[in-house]
Amino acid sequence: MKDTLTYEELKAAVHAAYDACKGLTGGQNAHYIPYLANVDSSLFGISACMPDGRMISVGDTNYKLGIESVSKVPTAILVMRQLGADALLEKIGADATGLPFNSVFAILLENDHPSTPLVNAGAVTACSLVEPKGSADQKWKAIVSNMTDLMGSEPELIDELYQSESSTNFQNRSIAWLLKQYGRIYDDPEMSLDLYTRQCSMGVTADQLAIMAATICADGTNPKTGKQVFAPELAPKVTSLMATVGFYQHSGDWLYTTGLPAKTGVGGAVIGVMPGQFGICAFSPPLDDAGNSVKAQAALKHIMEGLKLNIFSR
Ligand code: GLU
Repeated sequence: MKDTLTYEELKAAVHAAYDACKGLTGGQNAHYIPYLANVDSSLFGISACMPDGRMISVGDTNYKLGIESVSKVPTAILVMRQLGADALLEKIGADATGLPFNSVFAILLENDHPSTPLVNAGAVTACSLVEPKGSADQKWKAIVSNMTDLMGSEPELIDELYQSESSTNFQNRSIAWLLKQYGRIYDDPEMSLDLYTRQCSMGVTADQLAIMAATICADGTNPKTGKQVFAPELAPKVTSLMATVGFYQHSGDWLYTTGLPAKTGVGGAVIGVMPGQFGICAFSPPLDDAGNSVKAQAALKHIMEGLKLNIFSR
């Protein structure tokens, strides 16, 4: 792996990817969440942040997008911060499902674990594990303050998205109660589901998500604030979760193609982490059939090829 990636090289690669991908078409906005279906499909931005805090931003990197499943990463980190990496493995798991993000089948197949905190089932369980148990308000405060630590600035709830998602999340409700049946919800199931829905409805910018990714890439130290948000030994655990299941049923294809541990969300954001090198976020609402942004994937692939970087290469 190239060990001296320069700011200029990263900047050139980000701009080249933006230019190459801005005209791409294909995919459609998440149609099952009414708010997301109506977001402007032409939005597109890429933001990268290096461990020293220098940033590169091009396009719509200040737009407040719905964080959606990218929120599963910070809450997995929060559970590790509060309970430790072993508890996360024991109570949730760190396995790929090979199945869609909201799969009920995955729970039935592996009823002793919800597999990973980066699919819906494991993310609802993660919300149930957040301390302090029993208090929705205090748990929510912990979730928001952890995201704020990771991004160096506050997220903002998009109330319209939260209402939109709460009134249509029937499958996630089934997931929460099925997990309860298997003894894998560690707090009130409805409260855990609501916290999950609310965290998915957070408005964040691509710039904020790039800083979050850079905090993971810098072993838990936020490059902007200098705060050690989580213990350095947790960083490879987080990156391994992202690599394993960040693209749901396309995770293997993604890693094989790009060599970039990354996590997607149906709001159109994808964050990527190159340990020690950079954190990145590409954002564009239209998604492929697995719920992954078409343009963001193309842009990140372009960047990794341009930089000749791959987590599996020296
Ligand atoms: N809130 C979405 C859901 O639970 C998140 C899915 C995703 O971003 O992959 O359906």
